[in-house]
This record gives sequence, structure tokens and C-alpha cells, in this order.
Amino acid sequence: MSVTTTVSTKHVPRKSGGTGSLAGANPDRFAGVSWTTAFFMGLFHIGAVWALIDFTWSGVVVLLATYYIALAWGIGMSYHRLLTHRAYKTPKFVEYFLTICATTALEGGALFWVATHRRHHQHSDSDMDPHTPRHGGFWAHMAWIIFGEAQHNNVTMTSKYAPDLSRDGFHVWLSKYHWVPLTIQGLALWALGGWNWVLWGVFLRVTLGLHATWLVNSATHLWGQRRFVTRDDSRNNWWVALLTFGEGWHNNHHAHPTSAAHGLAWYEVDLTYMHIRALELVGLATDVRRVKVDDAIEEAA
Ligand SMILES: [Zn+2]
Ligand SMILES: [Zn+2]
Repeated sequence: MSVTTTVSTKHVPRKSGGTGSLAGANPDRFAGVSWTTAFFMGLFHIGAVWALIDFTWSGVVVLLATYYIALAWGIGMSYHRLLTHRAYKTPKFVEYFLTICATTALEGGALFWVATHRRHHQHSDSDMDPHTPRHGGFWAHMAWIIFGEAQHNNVTMTSKYAPDLSRDGFHVWLSKYHWVPLTIQGLALWALGGWNWVLWGVFLRVTLGLHATWLVNSATHLWGQRRFVTRDDSRNNWWVALLTFGEGWHNNHHAHPTSAAHGLAWYEVDLTYMHIRALELVGLATDVRRVKVDDAIEEAA
């Protein structure tokens, strides 16, 4: 079964959703430094540079495979489109498997990620947004994760914005131990290919994956096309979409948050949605939510 909503995009002016800066507003957002996060961010960036010095082709292959699993299967299919927006349904064993893949991106547990992202949608580009470029591009990209108050496993925030996940024992447990699958992956890579594979498959891969996801928070609220008039600054950005398997069609997504597809035209490649479609074809995804956008998109092509 699929859920389809028809929407009209005719005569929609392509102007910016908002102007102005919130820089200097809400100084409380600098709630303190998360030293644990800062330490691991520093460590992974050092490891990433080390990997580049120790180049091997097998390392590149390991990086591409682990990057794809973490970002396409994990962040895109699980944390974002399934757990945050419930854009489709899937059996629990698939949901848990995809969520384990997501933890290897080292973007925190599902409870934190989902709560933060739902808050982003509810308060996009306002003072309450955990990561808006209106507080500065660098803030939106990565400073918020180190200084912001939203990311320190705040129990009040997760129970407010992710009560559904807070009731699921597996998600609560995995959120607490979200670093375990990555550690096991790292040990497996070490056993199979030595330290070089750990550098490429863990340190460089995680660092690149983090920046790719962070670009959705920073770049796609700054640069790109606006198909839909939304209250926020979201944009469709093709190169962020390439790096994130479709997450860069962010203006489409803010306009239709529960749509399983973020790419809404044939030229907006959305690999994450293709995977959901594949699951649907083999009967492992149901209630896939879709929007049917009218001829305005063909005009834009
Ligand atoms: Zn956004
Ligand atoms: Zn979203």
C-alpha cells in the first residue's frame, strides 16, 4: 500500500524563504563545551589526515563501501526518512538493522538524532533551530555539535521530540551504546586489512560522512534552488545530494517532510528513495508516502 498526496507547485515564485541573521541572538545556545565530542572530533580529523598520507586503493574501496552503508542505509533510510519522518513502514528487524548501520556514521544515537532533527523542522531557521546558518555558517556546519545545548543526550529533549523512540527498548539501548557497532566494525577492518583499513574505513570515512551530513544543515540552507516557498531558508543543492545519496534536495524535503522521496523530478537523483522503493518491491516496505508534483517540475526541467 502506498500513500500519495497531490500538491501543486504552479506559479510559485523562487525567492528566498527568509532574510536576516540571528547572529548574536540567543547567546544561551553556547551552553558549554562538550569535551568528549570535541576530543573525538579532533581525533577523527587527525586520523583522516593520517589516512591520506597512507594511501592505498584497497583503503579507497573500504571507504566507499562503509560510507555507503553508513549514509545511504543508515542515516538516509533509517535515522532520517524512517525514524524521524515515518515516511514508510518496515518490519522491526529491517528497522533495527538499518539503525545499526546508521550508528556507524558516528552521528550519535537515534534518540538524539531524531529529536534534534524534529526540532530543526519545527523551528527551522529560527532562534530555536539547533543548527541554522542564521547563527553563522560555521555554527550550522559543526560548531553547534560541540557548543550547543541540544546534543548532550538531553533526556528532556529526547522525550519531548522523540517519545515514540523513547518507548522502544532496542532504540533506547542502542542510543546509549551507539559507538559499539563502529568499534566492532573497526576491529573487523583491523583483523582483515590492518591499520590502513581502519584509517580509511573508520577515521577518514567517518570524517567525510560527518561533513557531508553537516552540509545538509549548512549548505542546503544557504546555497541552491528554491522550488517551494517554505518558511525557512532550505534549498535544493545537487552536489550535497550527490554526497548524501539524495538528502540535498532539502527544499523539497522541507516543503514535504513526510515524503519518502526527496528528489521530486527525474533529474533529482535520490538513491535513498530508490532503496526504499526496492524494499517496497520485495514487500519489506509498506505505506510509502509520496507526493505527486504537477507539471511545474517538467516546466522547470
Ligand atoms: Zn533543513
Ligand atoms: Zn527531515
